[in-house]
Amino acid sequence: MNAIGSRNRQQVSIATAPADPERDWRAAMRDLVTSPAALCEALQLGPEQLGWSDEAAKAFPLRVPRSFVARMVPGDPRDPLLLQVLAGDLELQATPGFGPDPTGETGAANPHRGIIHKYRGRLLLLVTGSCAIHCRYCFRRHFPYADNQNSRDEWSSALDYIRRDPSISEVILSGGDPLVAGDAQLAELVAQLAMIPHVRRLRVHTRLPVVIPQRVTPELLDALSSPQLQTVIVVHCNHGNEVDGEVSTAFRMIREHGMTLLNQSVLLAGINDNVAALVGLSERLFEAGVLPYYLHLLDRVAGAAHFEVSAERAQALHREISATLPGYLVPRLVREVAGAPAKVMLPV
Ligand SMILES: *Cc1c(COP(=O)(O)O)cnc(C)c1O
Ligand code: SF4
Repeated sequence: MNAIGSRNRQQVSIATAPADPERDWRAAMRDLVTSPAALCEALQLGPEQLGWSDEAAKAFPLRVPRSFVARMVPGDPRDPLLLQVLAGDLELQATPGFGPDPTGETGAANPHRGIIHKYRGRLLLLVTGSCAIHCRYCFRRHFPYADNQNSRDEWSSALDYIRRDPSISEVILSGGDPLVAGDAQLAELVAQLAMIPHVRRLRVHTRLPVVIPQRVTPELLDALSSPQLQTVIVVHCNHGNEVDGEVSTAFRMIREHGMTLLNQSVLLAGINDNVAALVGLSERLFEAGVLPYYLHLLDRVAGAAHFEVSAERAQALHREISATLPGYLVPRLVREVAGAPAKVMLPV
């Protein structure tokens, strides 16, 4: 069979069986790499090279999509994508100053199940507690998701909280990763938000377009669109190697849908704490149509101390990238301070 013949055959099958737009990404979600053995096999590394810890993985399991693993460099145990997901012994060391809730997201900041409201004018809706990938430095790795899950009725009371507060002009879908939710659930939530007159902007904080780019489909983009709302997608990418051709395509689809597309990253020791990696990340993102938004100092979450880069070094790196890149490719260097009215920018 020649190439043209097989393409025709494919078209026929698409025409007869209605395509399920969620099929590919849901299949990728069911086929995650969750064992060190699978990781070793994919990366051609011996188990002793990996630096694996069963104990660390018990507290926060290994979870990484195959397409993200495919972007790691085989044979390199220090690969910057691998180090973001690998459960290692260093996580088990207790470090003073590192705790379960570094950003102050419980108590008054959590006024309703599934809502984190810390800043004026905008709040987070925790759509789901799950993610396609487990990032070892995640500041919500100890978050009480079980206490923040909403039933259908509770969602409606969460929406009442937003309806009652006319100062809220922006709702940020977060999690977990909000795009783990299906298109129908997202479409319903967005439709409800669009009916609240003071809500003008919808923001989505997600890593899925980076880790499973097939998640971005026309159906998803329609679900996140409304004539009443401007939509902003903030992806999370820490190293230029994360952005391959498929990820670029996903980004282009988002932009072609008229959405603003920004990136936030975390400054991580051993992963992107050098000028070449940070400059490369901004340039790669811009080639793919994304503007850098924030570069976060690590939130001091228990288990992640080995990723910390000091504020002084972060500022020095930031000065160097500012002296290298055009201003629009320099992310704002920020730190989250519990109780502060916004992210705190580090002085230059
Ligand atoms: C980071 C964050 C936001 C968004 O802050 P921006 O500076 O607008 O990007 C909103 N609410 C909470 C609770 C946050 O942690
Ligand atoms: S995708 Fe985001 S929320 Fe999920 S583990 Fe990674 S940093 Fe945490």
